[in-house]
Amino acid sequence: MGALSVTDLYTIGIGPSSSHTVGPMRAARAFAREVAALPGAAVVSLGCTLFGSLALTGKGHGTDGAVILGLMGETPEGVDPDAAPGILARVAAAGRLSLCGGAEVAFAPERDIVFRRDAFHPGHANTLAFRAERADGEAVERVYHSIGGGAVLAAGAQPPDHQTVLPHVFSSAAEMLAEGERSGLSIAGLMAANEDSFRPRAETEAFLDAVHRAMSACIERGCRAEGELPGGLRVRRRARRMFEALSGLNSGEPQAMFEWVSLWALAVNEENAAGGRVVTAPTNGAAGVLPAVMRYYERTVPGADAAGIRTFLLTAAAVGFLYKKRASISAAEMGCQGEVGVACSMAAAALCAVLGGSNAQIENAAEIGMEHNLGLTCDPIGGLVQIPCIERNTMGAVKAINAAYLALSGDGTHVVSLDAVIETMRQTGRDMRKKYKETGLGGLAANVVEC
Ligand code: SF4
Repeated sequence: MGALSVTDLYTIGIGPSSSHTVGPMRAARAFAREVAALPGAAVVSLGCTLFGSLALTGKGHGTDGAVILGLMGETPEGVDPDAAPGILARVAAAGRLSLCGGAEVAFAPERDIVFRRDAFHPGHANTLAFRAERADGEAVERVYHSIGGGAVLAAGAQPPDHQTVLPHVFSSAAEMLAEGERSGLSIAGLMAANEDSFRPRAETEAFLDAVHRAMSACIERGCRAEGELPGGLRVRRRARRMFEALSGLNSGEPQAMFEWVSLWALAVNEENAAGGRVVTAPTNGAAGVLPAVMRYYERTVPGADAAGIRTFLLTAAAVGFLYKKRASISAAEMGCQGEVGVACSMAAAALCAVLGGSNAQIENAAEIGMEHNLGLTCDPIGGLVQIPCIERNTMGAVKAINAAYLALSGDGTHVVSLDAVIETMRQTGRDMRKKYKETGLGGLAANVVEC
């Protein structure tokens, strides 16, 4: 994998899932744009087949809706989450959609989106195959893999490589620490210098500030919203009630800060479950951990400021890149250790950095953050990103804060390296049975009766 940028990791999109909603919307849009641009005969029919994890939990994750919106040319960044249900209802009622906002094509979701729950594609556990037929009888077929965090690859293509030459190249934690030592830069400093190869510094800062605003806005919306989450599990939103209770609580109560951190994570993940606007960090299912720990920094650390937030996000991204490069952040490949586990590791490193940790302590914090998430399975009840996902983010956030302070209490020397724990996660994910990897067939999903 070549050079990665923070803009690859943090994307502002919609819930409930980066791999099952954001990625499929991008794949469908790429296919639609290609087909719509072909000269000659008009498109007369469209079809999409979902394989593996996308088929098994796609209904609960809104994959079918994401595919329709993508075929219509919508993007995860641009689509209005409040307008999406109405658009989908109109397509279902009319039996037609507008291909990339242009020509109308017959499309009946129940008929034209096929959930192959019995088949995993050999290319990846999250695979979509599209087919378009044209009036002259020609067919166009494309296969895409949703590889995690909203990223999409056409079958047979290599992961994105910006071909950008970075001043500080590292693809392991050991190389990252050595590069920091050689250059005298912090981990955030290495990242900032690398980002300068993609765009002027001011633009990177503006991007990070926009990510911060989007994460903060998500917390605020989550704390105001009420009612039941969609999908039929009858899960009631809790964040508003908690927010009101905590607002009246004496801040000296010993448990208060734990409750606030949990609230901030809950608020984000309830928004995600409701299909709201969230930031992949590194995925949608784990989107609450980083914002909750970031707000902990803002509320508790004297002198917390915009520069600190950028340091926080850059440090977290450096750690997220290591997981992307050396393992995977796809729950269909790694289970939840690859989502909430990675988010916890990223947040632990980020908090350690803004609390003044050395590069060695930051690496230690990231390692602790993952070490105690190893083996975490992905078992969403009903295939919905609700139980255990929403609460699991609160656990990830609290664990990340603990990991940062544990690392800061030492001098950075420790037995298990971050590289060793990432490799352990990779091997554990590889050995984990498929039913525990975002299929909704194992764990809690198999033992809790949906009513
Ligand atoms: S259990 Fe974890 S990995 Fe699976 S959907 Fe929920 S948050 Fe994502």
